[in-house]
Amino acid sequence: MKKETQCVHSGSYRDGVTRGINTPIFTSSAFDYLDRDDTPYPRYFNTPNQDAVVKKVCALEGAEDGVVFSSGMAAMSTAILSFAGSGDHIVLMDELYGGTHAFATGEFQRIGIGYSFASTDAESICAAATERTKVIVIESPTNPLLSVIDIRKVAAFAREREITTIIDNTFASPMNQNPIELGIDIIVHSGTKYLGGHSDMCCGLVVTSRKKTERVRTLARHLGGSLDAMTCYLLERSLKTLALRVGRQSENAMRIARFLKGHQCVSRVHYPGLPDSPGHEIAKSQMKAYGGMLSFELDKRQLDASKFVKRLRLISPAVSLGGVESTICAPAVTSHAKMSAAERERIGVTDALLRLSVGIEDASDLIQDLEQALEGSSN
Ligand SMILES: *Cc1c(COP(=O)(O)O)cnc(C)c1O
Repeated sequence: MKKETQCVHSGSYRDGVTRGINTPIFTSSAFDYLDRDDTPYPRYFNTPNQDAVVKKVCALEGAEDGVVFSSGMAAMSTAILSFAGSGDHIVLMDELYGGTHAFATGEFQRIGIGYSFASTDAESICAAATERTKVIVIESPTNPLLSVIDIRKVAAFAREREITTIIDNTFASPMNQNPIELGIDIIVHSGTKYLGGHSDMCCGLVVTSRKKTERVRTLARHLGGSLDAMTCYLLERSLKTLALRVGRQSENAMRIARFLKGHQCVSRVHYPGLPDSPGHEIAKSQMKAYGGMLSFELDKRQLDASKFVKRLRLISPAVSLGGVESTICAPAVTSHAKMSAAERERIGVTDALLRLSVGIEDASDLIQDLEQALEGSSN
């Protein structure tokens, strides 16, 4: 089956009683245990609504099994801690999502896990691995600069050394990138973003092999970050339109990236779909389309970034991403606010940088909105 079909059909629970075509919402937290081995229980991650979403995402990612969590961070932290403990070492990319970065710097030392950060290229990641390295965590494209890493290279290096690889595939979504096909062991998604897609839920997923899922599910049962039936149902419903949404978002983002690139008041555009972007060739080799996220810098001599954001009428200033509506934020005062100005400047997150999450609206309406805001925001 093609992905468009899997989005609609994979994992759905066929209800033999009413023969309705949607998965019913099974709200029970108590189930009859007689004459069965695997009694469902929400925190055991084995209820029918949890199974339905896991099966759908596994189909889309080409994974054998997985676990659905109550947030992206529950998924990421459980995945990491499933494969590394006291005395082990982890290599992470320094451009990782802020929450994953903070998890490493805030908790690893106390747990006894050593760690190194490496820049966004396969060579640096491989060079940072030691004899004790058990896990490598990468992300591509990254937030907010949309940097791209050669996933195959990292995966091949790690496989030779029996290092477990984890990728945060949130930005690409399963429509645009399938890292298991590229050799990665474990895929993490913040379902809060594209999978949910309507800016109204919080959830996360880990999908991987059957064997690794056993380990993740065991730790997940101890840590307990499970997702309720209602939200699972909403997530399953959202996933049915994932192909349509991400397809449109990727097309819109490409058009907007080209528009911004050609505007005299925009000094830089970060989008891996642009042929002259530094990550374009690698992105082309591992992504189907380039996704709905982009970032850009206004020419500070000409325009004021906060004035520009306030002038937008259609595109809303909002944190988070991946919804059907277009949203914009300034990473320097949102996701990267805790970082010093010097550190931000070093990694390229300037005060003039804006991150745009492109929605499913008509692209020319979005471009018109950007155009009128650019025109009226001169210094
Ligand atoms: C939002 C996000 C997360 C964390 O997900 P939550 O659902 O907020 O816990 C992880 N990675 C990326 C890339 C994200 O954008």
